[in-house]
Amino acid sequence: MNTPRAGIVLVISAPSGTGKTTLVKRLLEEFPNIGYSLSCTTRPPREGEIDGQDYTFLSKEDFEARRDTGYFAEWAEVYGNYYGSPLPPTREMLAQGRDVLFEIDVQGAAQLHLTIPEALCIFILPPSLPTLAHRLHTRGKDSEEIIAKRLASARRELQEAHWYTHWIINDDLDTAYAELRATYMAATLAPRLCPQRVHRLLNETTGEK
Ligand code: ADP
Ligand code: 5GP
Repeated sequence: MNTPRAGIVLVISAPSGTGKTTLVKRLLEEFPNIGYSLSCTTRPPREGEIDGQDYTFLSKEDFEARRDTGYFAEWAEVYGNYYGSPLPPTREMLAQGRDVLFEIDVQGAAQLHLTIPEALCIFILPPSLPTLAHRLHTRGKDSEEIIAKRLASARRELQEAHWYTHWIINDDLDTAYAELRATYMAATLAPRLCPQRVHRLLNETTGEK
């Protein structure tokens, strides 16, 4: 019995460098039914980043104009740049019965937690702050100045982790991924996603005379 179900909203946050993007990429590869909410940002592209694939890169003016028309489901200023999740593609994916994943900061996650209380809000924790610093350096995509800014923000972001529905520690990558996968799989089993399933069963006959 393959009854269609409502979509799940997954919100994933972590201090920069924790491994959020690595874990999310793996989840999206394994579960094509999860759509990715492609964010807009005013941050300049990092080397190798592609417009329309990693982010939609916008000027500050363009971002502000879209924000003022209510285009974003949430938005925030992070490390001096604007980031926002466009509402129309999310609505469309949910209408198609797909799940939607938001990879966003704690301020944006708090906004979605208020507007979508049933959202799965997962915070990925680094095993330690020195490990986080090491990962930011080995990723090799940010300047020393930016890495220092991100490490300073990590403590503030960790202080906001308490209200999330799930915490996953990204120490060993495979273990963290198994936990992320299990969290998502468990969420797909919620009766509220498919309340008609039991009614359908009750309307069936057993076939016995
Ligand atoms: P974020 O999206 O949270 O900023 P990334 O996914 O870009 O983080 O990961 C930051 C760096 O840490 C990358 O170089 C990535 O390959 C590495 N990394 C991610 N998870 C682990 C892990 N469990 N152990 C070791 N290195 C990891
Ligand atoms: P980065 O510049 O490293 O790609 O992202 C910096 C931070 O901004 C990360 O915590 C990332 O999750 C967050 N971020 C990315 N897109 C969005 C978004 O659309 N909204 C919000 N609130 N944060 C975002």
